[in-house]
Amino acid sequence: MKSNGNSTTFTVHDRLGAAIAPNTNSNVSINPTPTPPPQPTTTTCSINLSTSNCQQMIATNTNLMPAGSLSSATAASCTVATSTGTNQHQDLVNLFECPVCFDYALPPILQCQSGHIVCSQCRQKLSSCPTCRGPLGNIRNLGMEKVADTILFPCKYQTNGCLLSLTHKHKLEHEDCCDFRPYMCPCPGASCKWQGSLENVMQHLWLAHKSITTLQGEDIVFLATDITLPGAVDWVMMQSCFGHHFMLVLEKQDQQFFAIVQLIGTRQQAEKFVYRLELNGNKRRLTWESTPKSIHEGIQQAILISDCLVFDGATALLFSENGNLAINVTVSLDLMMKKVFCRCSCFFNDNIYLKQVGAHVHYINDEQFREDYKHLISPDNSIEQLLSLVYQEIDRRQNLDTEARKRKDQINREYQPLYPELYKFQPKFLSEKFKELCSQSKSSYEYLLKLGNGIYSMPVFTTEFCTQFLAELKHFEASSMPKGRPNTMNNYGILLDELGFTSFIDELRNQYLNPLVQTLFGDAYVGSTGLDSHRAFVVSYKIDQDVDLGYHYDNSEITLNVSLGDQFEGGDLYFGTMAKPHRTAFSNFTFVEHKPTIGVLHRGQHLHGTESIKSGERYNLIIWMRSSSIRNQFCPMCWKKPECLIPVDSGNYGDGMIKSIESN
Ligand SMILES: [Zn+2]
Ligand SMILES: [Zn+2]
Ligand SMILES: [Zn+2]
Ligand SMILES: [Zn+2]
Ligand SMILES: [Zn+2]
Ligand SMILES: [Zn+2]
Repeated sequence: MKSNGNSTTFTVHDRLGAAIAPNTNSNVSINPTPTPPPQPTTTTCSINLSTSNCQQMIATNTNLMPAGSLSSATAASCTVATSTGTNQHQDLVNLFECPVCFDYALPPILQCQSGHIVCSQCRQKLSSCPTCRGPLGNIRNLGMEKVADTILFPCKYQTNGCLLSLTHKHKLEHEDCCDFRPYMCPCPGASCKWQGSLENVMQHLWLAHKSITTLQGEDIVFLATDITLPGAVDWVMMQSCFGHHFMLVLEKQDQQFFAIVQLIGTRQQAEKFVYRLELNGNKRRLTWESTPKSIHEGIQQAILISDCLVFDGATALLFSENGNLAINVTVSLDLMMKKVFCRCSCFFNDNIYLKQVGAHVHYINDEQFREDYKHLISPDNSIEQLLSLVYQEIDRRQNLDTEARKRKDQINREYQPLYPELYKFQPKFLSEKFKELCSQSKSSYEYLLKLGNGIYSMPVFTTEFCTQFLAELKHFEASSMPKGRPNTMNNYGILLDELGFTSFIDELRNQYLNPLVQTLFGDAYVGSTGLDSHRAFVVSYKIDQDVDLGYHYDNSEITLNVSLGDQFEGGDLYFGTMAKPHRTAFSNFTFVEHKPTIGVLHRGQHLHGTESIKSGERYNLIIWMRSSSIRNQFCPMCWKKPECLIPVDSGNYGDGMIKSIESN
């Protein structure tokens, strides 16, 4: 951690061969000489809890003041700036509250002649200022709009549990797909105003829409009666199969028919299915096949763009009998699709650091870049020069995975391990206590130490395993094999997936860590898919090499950090607050001393760092565990739902997001 009394920065541990060093070029004051966090006074016990007076306020956002490294593949990050006031950021955000609806007034911000603001929705309904009754013109408040660009606003669904704060540009976009947004009644037409949680949707349908019939099975016939009825009409029924409920809807508008299926479930669940609608009769057949919509997104948009089975009244009559239309509906699991791991597109185009001008830039296309970064042009730096630097960096990032693949292949072909038996996971590597803990026998909880909110320590490996594993790593380090580094914050370290430990870590994660994390941290940290990927590496700290690691958060849901041993003094881990930019918090640092074979489990977004090592050499195994169901909704690097998912080649977990692509 760097601190000069009133400013602190933290950085993001990057995902691929690079991390972010504190940015010395941002407009937040940062002191050049790091001071270690306040020292704990106890030395006798293995875990020291200590409180510092460090008072922090996280006051900026990922786009405006990224803290990034000079030349690494960086990721979005946040800056923590200390303030002498306590609730300054919250006070600032409150200034944007609309006096009528209590939502935030976001740009364009309109004010009355006396300077009172009101949000643009309410503005439309008002003739005079709600605060002073004076006339409302169309006076923009550019000053506040500029301030609005620099702060983060909490998501509208904060009270439902969403912890995100976003720039006003990303706020609406996020709220549209926020997992905490309540579900609306899925019945077509706007007549029912019910909303609530997903768990209560079925109950609502049973209670409030009793007339809807339900058929069981994957293959059913949906019979719409009296299709010649004039005007706008909806036919609705339910189909139950695969342990899920699907709502079938036939809608008639202006002599056009629209048939579609929606799942009473999340978008992610809907992705797993295919539905098929078929009109069949009189030697004619009309079919449509697609992925069901989730009721969270609804069917209105799909109907609007005809992303469903569409036919006109005349066609309907060709298939109907006595004014009734039978639609065959088949729901099946989507086996044609395979899941591939992806990176968030922000990996390639966000937080590109241009050393020459000391700025982080975002690149979408040339036009956007020229427009957004006009102000960076100087006699020394033409926009063309800057663009070519951007291309170079993007190109380097695009090649990182290929380079990693090459190293992995070469290691696989040529490297002679010292202990080949270590590469195949065996339960005997684990401490008996750890195995008991993961089997969730209550009595084993005595082996678990709670070191602070969301920080646990426990014995993980046997001493014998740690000794052999360390010897293996040193053997590899001394070999002539190519080495990718965990990140630029660590110049020394080994990527375990490149070395061939992927299936080892997979097994440890699936069989042991996933159930343990679920028990300790709850579903919010494992998601519906569980912790289904990881990034694993060993870092080493040594006097004259890397001695510490700055204050940062990890690109993980949950991190396991196990001390593998060797002789060392110092190098404690310390934890501060969660990396939530809108949180204002006093940070009480929690210190954790490393002890060989002992692991520490913590949330990835729990800000942390390591103190300088005082003597010797220290090795730590670090496993960043990730859940694709969580990451598909929220990328912790760009602090929003990934805009675009880019598949990585097999054997690479990318950023841990998942996408279905057609298999062939
Ligand atoms: Zn309002
Ligand atoms: Zn006024
Ligand atoms: Zn939200
Ligand atoms: Zn309803
Ligand atoms: Zn970390
Ligand atoms: Zn992202």
